[in-house]
Amino acid sequence: NRRFVLLRRPSGVPVPEDFALVSSDMPKVPQNGFVVRNHFASLDPAQRGWMDDAESYLPPIPLGDAVRATTVGVVQESDNPAFPVGQWVLGLNALEDYSVATPGGFTRCIDVSAVASPSHYLSALGAVGLTAYFGLADVARPKPGETLLVSGAAGAVGSAVGQIGKILGCRVIGIAGGEDKCRRLLADYGFDVAIDYKGKDHAALVAAIAQAAPAGVDIVFENVGGPVMEATVFNLALRARIVLCGLISEYNAPEKVGLRNLWQIIARRATIHGYLIADYADRFPQGATQMAGWMADGRLRVDEDVQHGLENAYPAFMRLFTGENTGKLILKIA
Ligand code: NDP
Repeated sequence: NRRFVLLRRPSGVPVPEDFALVSSDMPKVPQNGFVVRNHFASLDPAQRGWMDDAESYLPPIPLGDAVRATTVGVVQESDNPAFPVGQWVLGLNALEDYSVATPGGFTRCIDVSAVASPSHYLSALGAVGLTAYFGLADVARPKPGETLLVSGAAGAVGSAVGQIGKILGCRVIGIAGGEDKCRRLLADYGFDVAIDYKGKDHAALVAAIAQAAPAGVDIVFENVGGPVMEATVFNLALRARIVLCGLISEYNAPEKVGLRNLWQIIARRATIHGYLIADYADRFPQGATQMAGWMADGRLRVDEDVQHGLENAYPAFMRLFTGENTGKLILKIA
């Protein structure tokens, strides 16, 4: 059983020496649980936070443990009739060939017969699609005609948020890094306006958003934080709603600076809503049905960036921070 373990806590940007691929004995089946052969693992920005020894919604990954990850795989051995051998399952496991699992939490059986790839349970029908759907439809509650601004817009969550925004009748502005991603925002995901944040200083970014949204932005779906968010807050409409979903620009920062220009929140009487998809666990089936319906109708496109091999876990994971990933980043393990 190969396991991609965390050897030490990264200081700033993770380096290969923070991790090791180790071999260990096959895990034993726990009472009432099962052993799953992992086929696909989700590579998420959140994993960077779990590597830090910091207060959060989950405990830090213990040093020497495999890096925690949501996986889909097949039950290999079982002591639980609800999870029989051969059944496809989804759960919060780790970057390893085989994981030990027990019922509870997010662990559940999945039906892969109707999907093109089981990996879709990590993208469109998984946390990415559900994060986009509930964060926009339930937290922001857009009204037709409102202006929605999405940062990290060409990424997995961002591209889904923008498309759902269009379906719900918003005018959608996306901010992403580079010409190619901006082209994809317009051509592949149907955004109304794309802004390239790279090479723009604060004043230029503020001006670009102002040009795209002369009356201000009603809803901000924030995935990035840092300089991008600091420019956004100068373009808020009165009583704007900010869905604070992620702050990827800060995850590798040795010191978290936080948002400057906070006064703009007061000036515009805006609301910042800290949002975590885990709070919607009991409504996942409803969200997944909605996402599947929009995909079947051709109204929603979710791209996957599938990298191969546990031995490539480090370079694959780093794609999230270099911006190389072209869709939901997934590691194929088996
Ligand atoms: P993405 O597919 O969006 O990949 C990450 C992207 O972030 C990169 O492609 C890159 O795009 C951008 N990025 C990386 N570093 C920076 C930087 N310093 N400044 C600006 N942009 C940067 O990943 P996900 O869709 O999985 O996640 C997007 C966000 O959503 C993350 O912040 C994540 O933590 C959050 N999230 C939150 C959840 C919740 O429940 N609250 C659940 C799931 C995700 P570019 O080339 O444009 O720079």
